[in-house]
Amino acid sequence: MRLILLGPPGAGKGTQAIRLVEKFGIPQLSTGDMLRAAVAAGTPVGLKAKAVMESGGLVSDDIVIGIVADRIEEADAKKGFILDGFPRTVAQAEALDKMLSQKGVKLDAVLEFVVDQTALVGRIVRRAEEAKAAGQPVRKDDDPEIFKTRLEAYNRDTAIVAPYYKGTGKLKTIDGMKPIDDVSKAMFAALA
Ligand code: AMP
Repeated sequence: MRLILLGPPGAGKGTQAIRLVEKFGIPQLSTGDMLRAAVAAGTPVGLKAKAVMESGGLVSDDIVIGIVADRIEEADAKKGFILDGFPRTVAQAEALDKMLSQKGVKLDAVLEFVVDQTALVGRIVRRAEEAKAAGQPVRKDDDPEIFKTRLEAYNRDTAIVAPYYKGTGKLKTIDGMKPIDDVSKAMFAALA
């Protein structure tokens, strides 16, 4: 099973990805997680990405496409994967199409989580508070001001990625405003 999760930051992609991992036994490939790991490790990619990520902007297509191209070659991604946070631009979607066709594999579904954007800042603030309470690191970009920039980047560059997949018949729209369990149910139903 090869899936893409689309939706603005705070839409619940990460939360639902964990449930997909459990159900299908395929890895979650989060470009945000990979980039944060690169920043933490101080790799050349991390050094290039750090300031852009902290400002809430998008890391360049070349960097992100390179990371995904390497990651989907790893052994655990052979039988499938859940792309979380990628593709975020049409150029990334086109690059992914090329990668998959070169490998001779196909996407199974693109799940788009549709949410009321006015509710997202509240979700992000809660996510930061929960992380803090659990003694986990709080993401610097989970700050209301930076979040605005992330949402702008989504509306400018990423919102057009879902229409890109419309013609493929693989795009499934999920109401991301429902309680978490209901969203999961709708998602599994869409994949059945
Ligand atoms: P996320 O964890 O998906 O919210 O991503 C955190 C940050 O990583 C984003 O705000 C971007 O700066 C960067 N990032 C993650 N995925 C991508 C991508 N596919 N294209 C460009 N930048 C990305």
